[in-house]
Amino acid sequence: MDFSSIQAAAQALAQANRVVISTGAGMSADSGIPTYRDRNGRWRDFLPFSQVGLTPSDFAHPPGYRERPQHAWAFAEYLRRSMAQAPVHQGYDVLTEWMLRRIPQSFLLTTNIDDLHRRADVPETQFYERYGNLWELQCLERCTPHWWRENRVELCTLDTSTMEASNFPQCPFCQGLARPRIQMAYDEEFVEKEAGWKFYQNFLASGPVDVYLIIGTTLWMTWPEGQEPNTIIHINPDPNTHAHYQSPIAVTMGAKDALVGIDWAWRQMRKG
Ligand SMILES: [Zn+2]
Repeated sequence: MDFSSIQAAAQALAQANRVVISTGAGMSADSGIPTYRDRNGRWRDFLPFSQVGLTPSDFAHPPGYRERPQHAWAFAEYLRRSMAQAPVHQGYDVLTEWMLRRIPQSFLLTTNIDDLHRRADVPETQFYERYGNLWELQCLERCTPHWWRENRVELCTLDTSTMEASNFPQCPFCQGLARPRIQMAYDEEFVEKEAGWKFYQNFLASGPVDVYLIIGTTLWMTWPEGQEPNTIIHINPDPNTHAHYQSPIAVTMGAKDALVGIDWAWRQMRKG
């Protein structure tokens, strides 16, 4: 347990008025969701597909949905089914609780598409999913700027021996092929959720941020001129990643244990 940095993080959060939080793959790793893609949005090889000679980066993009929808949708369907099984770990509940009650002036950005923050009831107006959400669909040809939520697990038929899907979902507006509303490689048609982006811009415009809390992500933030937060808390089990930031409060732990630990330390302070 990284006790002194846990204490320092709790202290900084207890004194903060306005906080921005970023989460990435390191947050959902503790729910058993592995890192599926690199910083350029390309999907890495992984077992169920490589076993049948397929590489997700060959088809997990809009051209792939046009040319090989059976494989593109098989990949999305596979991810949806695995993510639906993933438990929401306690670190998610801790963040939601902070945002609702202890630091209501906070905003959460995530690069994750797995829906776990939503399942932990994060407040909608304080939340922006930078790369979309696998549980939201849009038209492949973008016949409309609308997107829609699709909660069904087993959305497509999936043959796991060939990793081919069939019975793909359709766009309700043009009856063409639907796709997940996630930012993919070579993706010009991604439907941005404008409300989320506006919530974030409004939050930044309404005052300086005291603390920037970064959890398991390499997302690079740019701040309005002169508004860089004074304090950065960086949670990552890999000690080499702390050097990306200038003198952060560095918590060298996994997301779940770090958040639960900080929450505990914060509660002790309030008792004292
Ligand atoms: Zn359409």
